[in-house]
Amino acid sequence: MLPILYRPPADGERITRRDGTLVVPDHPIIPFIEGDGTGPDIWRASVRVLDAAVAKAYGGRRKIAWMEVLAGEKAFRATGSWLPDETVAAFRAYLVGIKGPLTTPIGEGFRSLNVMLRKVLDLYVCLRPVRYFRGVPSPVREPHKIDVVIFRENTEDIYAGIEFGEGTPEMERFRALLRENFPAEYSKIRFPASSGVGLKPISREGSERLIRAAIVYALEHKRRFVTLVHKGNIMKFTEGAFRNWGYALAEREYRETTYTWAEWNRTKEARGEAAANAEQAAALAQGRLLIKDAIADVTFQQLLTRPDEFDVIAAPNLNGDYLSDAVAAQVGGIGIAPGGNINYETGHAVFEATHGTAPKYANLDKVNPGSLILSGQMLLRHLGWDEAADLVVAGMERAIAARTVTYDFARLMRGAREVKCSQFGDEIIRHMTGAKTVTPPRRAPARSASRSATTKTIRSTKDHPKKRARR
Ligand code: NAP
Repeated sequence: MLPILYRPPADGERITRRDGTLVVPDHPIIPFIEGDGTGPDIWRASVRVLDAAVAKAYGGRRKIAWMEVLAGEKAFRATGSWLPDETVAAFRAYLVGIKGPLTTPIGEGFRSLNVMLRKVLDLYVCLRPVRYFRGVPSPVREPHKIDVVIFRENTEDIYAGIEFGEGTPEMERFRALLRENFPAEYSKIRFPASSGVGLKPISREGSERLIRAAIVYALEHKRRFVTLVHKGNIMKFTEGAFRNWGYALAEREYRETTYTWAEWNRTKEARGEAAANAEQAAALAQGRLLIKDAIADVTFQQLLTRPDEFDVIAAPNLNGDYLSDAVAAQVGGIGIAPGGNINYETGHAVFEATHGTAPKYANLDKVNPGSLILSGQMLLRHLGWDEAADLVVAGMERAIAARTVTYDFARLMRGAREVKCSQFGDEIIRHMTGAKTVTPPRRAPARSASRSATTKTIRSTKDHPKKRARR
């Protein structure tokens, strides 16, 4: 059923899925939420950049048919709802969408609209690629060494929202339950009468699907490592289990294409460290992907001191949240950090600016549209339109290198020319001319479903390792 609130553009077609693969027509309908506060400013700049890249890459043969859907303040004004059912239905029906930042309404009982959207579409991966753009002011000495892709689990952990507040009737009932059924655990609470409690569910299924997505990504993009980041030394049955399930998954489903530190440890115990090192070296020489793990606090240190030892990261929700913003800050901050929320089984994906609405700058045509533009670039890649995505990246690299930047970068850069939000978009478009595309060849070529359609491989990740192993 099509949503009643929205009229799909007549010149577009719906993206569909066939055999676990996205089938993308040449004029796909993509729903967008422009967002609150500075959202309209950054959306206006972003959509021009994305359209220009697609037009240039495909000579007019392909074009996105954008369809505005409402959420946040604009939706509330028009419909009385912050997130109308029709908006969720549109993202469900059209599979792939994009959004600007949304105000989180303040008040008891309100959940973030972003979290609601992720939850209803079960977008279990929060994908945050973080790389450096030369010239961007950074607080570290060697920002160019950072090139990591973070897979943050998006549906579990402390974000499941199971909390009991101090002194509430719910807390009292929970306290009684604990005291009567788990007296040993209850005795560990230092101040039971004045505590609030939060529960942290982390499941095998939830961890495996996230880690599987990270491994598939790393294999497809010829990355070197996947690091499972956890605090398993303290939270053994949640974060420690996340690591153990990850290693077991790699060994079960990716036997021939990965080597794990769990294997290294077993070999070390059985035959000594030299034998384990030799085994690992041989596996890596065969081009296998190394699956390792790191405690969360060590990861924060080492991302600063040895960033090139990190590549693809898979992390539970809270660790992933902290890490994504910390690493983004290392390469110049939230103005340009992109993100996507994806379910690789259903094909649903919502790409989004990672910063907030920055309301004090609303309608000033001032803020950096880079985060939403690069999120749009991720969307293009998700469709398999890599040539257009490359043009966006090349245009942004060159605009920043030419020091034509928005206020946030200009205030930290010597010799910069400060431009408005819209002008930064213009600069990116201008710099696409003469840009070379740089997409590395894919291991798994996209399959054409018809002459007029391109496909993006979002196979069932469960099928993927076997196909790869046969190659
Ligand atoms: P914010 O909107 O991210 O703004 C904080 C500061 O970050 C701004 O004052 C500005 O710093 C800088 N900034 C943000 N976006 C920028 C951009 N595009 N270019 C350059 N600088 C940028 O955070 P907030 O003020 O805490 O949150 C405001 C609202 O956004 C809240 O309602 C919150 O719930 C919501 N929010 C939404 C999302 C989302 O939709 N994904 C995420 C986070 C927050 P300077 O003042 O130093 O220039």
